Amino acid sequence: TDLKNADLRNLAELGQGNGGSVMKVEHVPSGMVMAKKIVLIDAKPSVRKQILRELQIMHSCKSPYIVSSYGAFLAEPNICICMEFMDKGSFDGIYKKIGAIDIEVVRQVAHAVLEGLMYLYDVHRIIHRDIKPSNILCNSLGEIKLCDFGVSGELINSIAHTFVGTSIYMSPERIQGAEYSVKSDVWSLGISLIELALGRFPFSDPSDSDDENYSDLEGDPTQPSPAPSPAHSDLAKTAKLASSPDSGRTARRHSRRKSKGVSLDGGGMTMSIIELMHQIVKEPAPRLGPEGRFEKAAEEFVDACLEKDPERRKAPKDLLAYEWMVQAAQSTFDLKEWAGTF
Ligand code: ADP
Ligand code: MG
Repeated sequence: TDLKNADLRNLAELGQGNGGSVMKVEHVPSGMVMAKKIVLIDAKPSVRKQILRELQIMHSCKSPYIVSSYGAFLAEPNICICMEFMDKGSFDGIYKKIGAIDIEVVRQVAHAVLEGLMYLYDVHRIIHRDIKPSNILCNSLGEIKLCDFGVSGELINSIAHTFVGTSIYMSPERIQGAEYSVKSDVWSLGISLIELALGRFPFSDPSDSDDENYSDLEGDPTQPSPAPSPAHSDLAKTAKLASSPDSGRTARRHSRRKSKGVSLDGGGMTMSIIELMHQIVKEPAPRLGPEGRFEKAAEEFVDACLEKDPERRKAPKDLLAYEWMVQAAQSTFDLKEWAGTF
C-alpha cells in the first residue's frame, strides 16, 4: 500500500497507551476514516525496515474477529499503523462509560476473543500477547474484534524503554518468566471477562465490603501519591505502564491495605504492582462472582480460563466447546441494538 502521513487528516485522539497514541484520521484521497496508531520506536533503520516487513502479516489477517489493517509506514521517529476504525471504542472505555457489562455481552466478548485467538494461531501461528479490555473493540454494527496482537517481535523489542508484555493481565506462568503460549492469552481473557462483568478490575481485597467501585480513592488526601524517586524509575515505569489509571488506583488501594515487608517508595504504586504480581502467582485465581449472581455455565467457563496451571488450562479451541460458548454461538442476543444504547 502507499499510505502516507501527508494523505491523513487528524480528526480526534482516540487514546494513549504504552507505546504511543491512537488518532482517528481521514484518508483524504479516499474519504475513508481510519484509526492511526503512532508508535515511538528506538531502533536502527535496518530494524525499522524489518518491523515494517513483519507488520505486513497484519495485512493478511482477515477475520470477522480481527481489526483489519490498512498498512503501516515510517514517519521518523515513529511507526504508524493504520487500521479499521471501531466507532464504539474499546471495552475498557465502554464499561467506564456505562458500568458493568451485561453478562450476555460478556459472553459474546468471550466468544469473539476465542474465535480471534484461534484464527491468529491456527492460520498465522500468532499469539496475541496483550489481551485486555482496551484491545477488544466494538463498533455500531455490534461487531467485536481484537487489535494490537504481537505480529512483530522486532517491534516488541524496539518500543522505546517500555516493558511490553508486563501487564496486570499477565498469567502466573508469564510473571514467573515462562514462554508465552496461547494459554497465557486465555488467562488474560479470564481476567478481562471478570473486569467487564463486574465493571472493575478483579484484583482487590475480597474482604472489603465497599469494593463495588474504587472511586473512593479519588481526591483522597490520605493517599500516598505515586511519585517514585528517580532511582526506582525503571520499576516505576513498569508500574505506570502496566496499569491503566483505574487499575492503578486499585493497586494503590491494595497496597495501602495489605502493605507489608519492604517498600520501595513508601507504599505507592511501584511496590503495589509487585505485590499484585505476587498475589497473582501465590493466591487462588479470582472468580466470577459473587456466588449465585451469574449462571453456573459462566462461572465454569471463567474458572477454566483462570486455571493457574498452564498445563491444565484449556486452549481456545477446547473452551469454544464449553456449554457457555456453545450457547453464545446460538444466541440471538442483538449486539447491534446493544451497541446503539450508548
Ligand atoms: P491501550 O490498548 O494500552 O489502551 P493503545 O495505544 O493501544 O493503548 O490504544 C489507546 C486507545 O485507543 C485504546 O484504549 C482504544 O480505546 C483506542 N483505539 C485503539 N485502536 C482503535 C481502533 N482501531 N478504533 C477505535 N479506537 C481504537
Ligand atoms: Mg491497545
